[in-house]
Amino acid sequence: MIIVIIPVRCFSCGRVIASDYVAFVNRVNFIRENERREPTPEEIERIFDDLGVKRYCCRRMILSHVDLIDEVIAFD
Ligand SMILES: [Zn+2]
Repeated sequence: MIIVIIPVRCFSCGRVIASDYVAFVNRVNFIRENERREPTPEEIERIFDDLGVKRYCCRRMILSHVDLIDEVIAFD
């Protein structure tokens, strides 16, 4: 199960991005696991285009997000 705490909406334009984040991470992890490398910038752009994340305000929400829940959950 994936537990993430990402803002539901983009801070700038209000677009819902939380569900796109999970899809984005799944696509990136697919490339990492199957091809044993990091996705190229072109592939990242392609993933955003496929998900319909067009504006760069929304893209920065997803790209710059760092999941800290696993660090916090240790103190549960
Ligand atoms: Zn936005």
